[in-house]
Amino acid sequence: MTRIPTPNRVRGTQDIFGDEQRRFTHVIDSFERVRRLYCFGRVEVPVFEATEVFARSIGETTDVVSKEMYTFEDRGGDSITLRPEFTAGIARAFLTNGWRQHAPMKLATSGPVFRYERPQKGRFRQFHQIDAEVIGAAEPAADVELLVMADQLLRELGIEGVTLRLNTLGDAETRDAWRAALVAHFEAHREALSKESLDRLGKNPLRILDSKDEGDRAIAATAPDIDAYLTAEARGFFDAVTAGLDAAGVAWTRDARLVRGLDYYRHTAFEFTTDRLGAQGTVLAGGRYDGLIGWLGGPETPGVGWAAGVERLAMLVAEPEAERPTVAVIPLEPQFEPHATMLAANLRRQGLATHFDLRGNAKKRMQRADAAGSSHAVLVGPTIVLGGVTLKTFASGEQRNVSAADIAEAVL
Ligand code: ATP
Ligand code: MG
Repeated sequence: MTRIPTPNRVRGTQDIFGDEQRRFTHVIDSFERVRRLYCFGRVEVPVFEATEVFARSIGETTDVVSKEMYTFEDRGGDSITLRPEFTAGIARAFLTNGWRQHAPMKLATSGPVFRYERPQKGRFRQFHQIDAEVIGAAEPAADVELLVMADQLLRELGIEGVTLRLNTLGDAETRDAWRAALVAHFEAHREALSKESLDRLGKNPLRILDSKDEGDRAIAATAPDIDAYLTAEARGFFDAVTAGLDAAGVAWTRDARLVRGLDYYRHTAFEFTTDRLGAQGTVLAGGRYDGLIGWLGGPETPGVGWAAGVERLAMLVAEPEAERPTVAVIPLEPQFEPHATMLAANLRRQGLATHFDLRGNAKKRMQRADAAGSSHAVLVGPTIVLGGVTLKTFASGEQRNVSAADIAEAVL
């Protein structure tokens, strides 16, 4: 008989289980709680879109579009791309569904995203993001709201040593003037730039500031700041954002070199970074994308948002406390199995987390329940015909007879 080789996991994908999975869920649950506190509505958008949704809005010159997208032709011959991020899909949904009437909209989502990158610690090909957006608000208050929300999330996750780095990319006029100054600077250092950055110089010089190449970084470090080019309006916007952060008690530092890799950003750009994850130190990043919806063919509509990598956050959080109490329902003899089944179903219907072993004698089941962290065992024996069980508390070893109807009350 020929055996087929066991299939492998595709490079850059993950099976998330056990301790890692608990931390992962803890991140998502905390995000869900915080986005409700900030009254952000949850939206679900498709895992795949027409390729042009991402190509147009993220920009052809970005790494994401030029190198990282999972693009394929479907059976009908349409070009489809697995979402590499959420913002473009949400902006598309905003237009498709005519949500303009609801603007400004505060939206949040989470789920898997896909990028064809070189896998390493904290960098995967299928990873997960949590995402928050405010669409249809040009006010700096929207930027502030999103940043305060991000800060609260990181605090609730107990993640310490994270720095909010903040910059402004100015308005269109500012950006054009700064871009010209950057081009002049990089032209003067052409010979030392990486091949990739030489290419960027013609298409999107701001992105050289974002390069991960050591040589590029040295030249980027001496590049002119945007400050000298800020219009009064752009400066006023940035000041309003920082005043809002100060009022809300959110610490920030200016990082005049910070740009976002995507083309549609204006004004606020930010990253929350840590030095605990090596090269993959950015845990949450975002900014204002006032140009995006117009580029997608819609009416000019301002927007601002952020996304965070769930895996990177999960690496930084402590494992959450296991749910307590949990009981284990254990038949003392095989003939009590049906009673135990009924009892376990009732306890779960009452909202009590209940272990129910599928095999083994009572002693084995007790050991496993203890090892699994159960707080109590419910022993089901002959007295069940009168409605009675024995309740054992693992911590003290105490055993007492109680009525099956009173278990939840006795345990909670
Ligand atoms: P990087 O510079 O690390 O490549 P990026 O600028 O491409 O990040 P964004 O597009 O801003 O990242 O995505 C937001 C967040 O998603 C990042 O801050 C990071 O936490 C996470 N992230 C991005 N790419 C990956 C990946 N391949 N694997 C895991 N998490 C990722
Ligand atoms: Mg990237």
